[in-house]
Amino acid sequence: MKRVLLLGGGHAHLLVLAALARQRLAGAELMLLTPHADLVYSGMVPGLVAGHYAAGQCRIALAPLAAAAGVSLVAGAAVGLDAAARCLHLDDGRTAAYDLLSIDTGSEQRRDRVAGAAEHALFVRPIEAFVQGQQRLVDAAARQALDIVVLGGGAAGFELALAVRHRLNGETRRDGAQPARVALVTGGPEPLAGYPAAAVREGARVLAAARITVFREAAVAVDARSVQLASGARLACDKAIVATGAEAPQWLAGSGLALCERGFVRTGPTLQSVSHPEVFAAGDVATRDDAPHPKSGVHAVRAGPPLAMNLRRAVDGAPPQAYWPQTRTLNLLSCGGRRAITVWGGLSLGERGFGGLAWWWKDRIDRGFIAAFTTPTAAAGAAPSSLARPEGDDQP
Ligand SMILES: Cc1cc2nc3c(=O)[nH]c(=O)nc-3n(C[C@H](O)[C@H](O)[C@H](O)COP(=O)(O)OP(=O)(O)OC[C@H]3O[C@@H](n4cnc5c(N)ncnc54)[C@H](O)[C@@H]3O)c2cc1C
Repeated sequence: MKRVLLLGGGHAHLLVLAALARQRLAGAELMLLTPHADLVYSGMVPGLVAGHYAAGQCRIALAPLAAAAGVSLVAGAAVGLDAAARCLHLDDGRTAAYDLLSIDTGSEQRRDRVAGAAEHALFVRPIEAFVQGQQRLVDAAARQALDIVVLGGGAAGFELALAVRHRLNGETRRDGAQPARVALVTGGPEPLAGYPAAAVREGARVLAAARITVFREAAVAVDARSVQLASGARLACDKAIVATGAEAPQWLAGSGLALCERGFVRTGPTLQSVSHPEVFAAGDVATRDDAPHPKSGVHAVRAGPPLAMNLRRAVDGAPPQAYWPQTRTLNLLSCGGRRAITVWGGLSLGERGFGGLAWWWKDRIDRGFIAAFTTPTAAAGAAPSSLARPEGDDQP
């Protein structure tokens, strides 16, 4: 019996569980190690903040899927890895040995990049904590008008700034208070930099129409009442939301695995570590040496089925097969209300005109994704979502 350890209940492992539920893996003892009983589907989180969804609608329970897949679910998080000894160190002091390890623990955000942010700001990762934090923010906004500053001009920052604006203005107006004021600090570039020029222009227009002030410079400090920018300017701020780009989990340092210069696990076409073939990695935590792509939920989801196949082949002693990620992705960027900007490769459609239909389309895809995993039977037939968007690499 080979001992196969699935580390992290992320988007890629969701599809691995679905594949294993479809066809159990004989000859292996499988374990999913996860600190959370649910996966939060990040594509719906801006919609949650905007008030379009309840938190329960954005979650997928892992236990029923694991049971259907013949995988034991163990609560815990990895805090260290000794790749040479094939041993994981867990947060409660235990260790877990493996013959095959599959890592899908996503990305992190460093708390110390902006002074004071760790104490005063709400970080989008871990996303489970963000889901709780945004509810406290909404509750506070119902009592008084708030100044909110979002740090990060990538897709997540863009969507969250608009979502907060939409939600809080609605909440406070109902209570007769002043609408919240929202600012977006991009770290330097235009919001949505890296997207096609037309989408960047459209993003700027949508932000201006929502009266979100954009600061194209870095934030250097956050305190209980303000955000300080590199220029010395101080923005009034009751709560800062940090939506900056994906960073590598720190526990990987010292593991012995080959890591890229940013600290993510270097993998090749078979999703195996380039240094340790018994270790697989997919999703945000991995970087493909041969086919680099943005860190996004869709890439994580799409890597799931080939990851499952290669884990099966590794258990069976068969050679692994190559997987090539798609080069072009569909991006449906929500704009607070039930409207979205559409980007496909170099093409984009604005929020005006097609925006309502684009949001309806995104909503359908996202709800469909969740529904596909709500019962193990449905999960067994689940296909990867077609929704994608890269997370910005911008720094505040
Ligand atoms: C607000 C927001 C909106 C987004 N919207 C989109 C979108 O619309 N489309 C899109 O494609 N992408 C989107 N993204 C990006 C997307 O969230 C990530 O790319 C995606 O979640 C990566 O999936 P993953 O499987 O790598 O990791 P995750 O989904 O982050 O899952 C990793 C899991 O591992 C667990 N874990 C973490 N550390 C450990 C540990 N040490 N030990 C064990 N388990 C651990 C975590 O708790 C988590 O459950 C968004 C991101 C944010 C922040």
